[in-house]
Amino acid sequence: MPDLWDLMRLRQIHQFQIHKTHQNQVHQILEKISVNKDANWRLYMSIIELQGARAEIEKKLRQYTGKAIFLAELDVFALACGCNGITANVRGLSVDDVDVFKDVFVSYFAGVCEKLDVKSTFLFARLIPATNEVAALNARNLCEKCYVELVGEKGVVKPRPDMFVLHFKKK
Ligand SMILES: [Zn+2]
Repeated sequence: MPDLWDLMRLRQIHQFQIHKTHQNQVHQILEKISVNKDANWRLYMSIIELQGARAEIEKKLRQYTGKAIFLAELDVFALACGCNGITANVRGLSVDDVDVFKDVFVSYFAGVCEKLDVKSTFLFARLIPATNEVAALNARNLCEKCYVELVGEKGVVKPRPDMFVLHFKKK
């Protein structure tokens, strides 16, 4: 059943420029989202799942760290370049917490991504510049262009001061 996720994938495949031959397909999907009861139900479920995941991630972060972590926002994104994934904007989490619970975070986020149908190849914490604070946890399915930009010759992620890498899957 085509739904919003199919549309996002289609957009990703065609890198923002939807070719003429696929325009019909896109129209069909859009039509089904608005008129088909099942498609609406699927879309509705995705939002409910996302809402549930936000609360669950917040609870888990509090359990792991013993700190009053606030998960302000959980977003699913699709970028024009082809990258997609999820971003969890957090408050109260430090890079030391993330480092200590690295393995737990990686396996837990792998489960969250699977549940939300996001194929994450790169998990990292984005840091507030010049601080020890984590601004967001980001699970990303990298497009070819961003993969090349991110990865050095040795096949490892180039170090960046605003990024703490939790997991990276080499292509
Ligand atoms: Zn990209």
